[in-house]
Amino acid sequence: MKKIAVIGSGLMGRGIALVGLLNGFDVRLHDIKETALKQAQDYIASEMKKAVEKGIYQVDVDTCLEHLSCFTDLEDAAKETDLVIEAVLEKIELKIEIFKQLDAICPAHTILATNTSTMSPTEIAAQTSRPEKCIAMHFFNPPHKMKLVEVVKGLDTNNETVQFVKEIVAEMKKEMIEVNEFPGFVASRMNCLIGNEAMNMMMEGVASAEDIDKAMKLGLNHPMGPLELADLVGLDTRLRNMEYLHETLGEKYRPCPLLSKYVKAGRFGKKSGKGFYNYN
Ligand code: NAD
Repeated sequence: MKKIAVIGSGLMGRGIALVGLLNGFDVRLHDIKETALKQAQDYIASEMKKAVEKGIYQVDVDTCLEHLSCFTDLEDAAKETDLVIEAVLEKIELKIEIFKQLDAICPAHTILATNTSTMSPTEIAAQTSRPEKCIAMHFFNPPHKMKLVEVVKGLDTNNETVQFVKEIVAEMKKEMIEVNEFPGFVASRMNCLIGNEAMNMMMEGVASAEDIDKAMKLGLNHPMGPLELADLVGLDTRLRNMEYLHETLGEKYRPCPLLSKYVKAGRFGKKSGKGFYNYN
């Protein structure tokens, strides 16, 4: 049984852990916050039961859950693993620091992957002694429902690492695309721009949030509107994505001032109860 560690147990980390458990991996979940780990455990158990009840997965829930262990200590989580997937906040300095620590903790064969939505796997790997074993695996939200993983090679990532990750993605029953490193990869670069335009339109008073989303769903056949999707992603995370794309790709990606205002007000979207929509 392959052992994976997931670092960060927020929206994405808990979902990636769930995908691993449903597909026969031993999962070691880490977060610096006990409360986040507890919430993640509850979420994983409840979503796993739902997936089995709906017949999406034929697994024994109790057996799968026995393969989940939770840690606030990074070393306990990451030692003796074959693959580590980092899913902490979208902050480059934090990701670099975690990769440095993982490099010191993990066995030589361990592959280090980041779930960043936009950032450079080359830069995240650069201060490790194993850049050839570092890569980005970009899952989508929620990971157990979304089919795609973008696999992004850094400058020094070797073919064995790409091959290993492709096999893991297949074992997780996901589809993958291989992307050459560039800020925002494929999906985030496009999606952030659409979302930002929707926010600008709302700020300019062009239409209500409901009508902007309705236009994209009924007029263009998007399964979700860009504003409800931004609320699901988390407006704090989306703002960090936009700031990084603005910094690296230029003016076209300047974050909408309304997005910055909402984040300053603590409106982080669905996870905080309020964003472009109200969830209470
Ligand atoms: P989140 O805010 O929901 O969760 C982040 C978690 O990281 C929190 O539980 C926090 O306690 C934990 N954390 C913070 N510092 C840590 C540290 N030093 N060590 C361990 N854990 C730490 O964020 P998220 O939405 O899950 O995003 C995580 C990553 O996934 C980001 O890089 C984001 O860009 C990417 N991503 C997000 C989405 C999305 O829709 N939200 C989709 C794809 C990728």
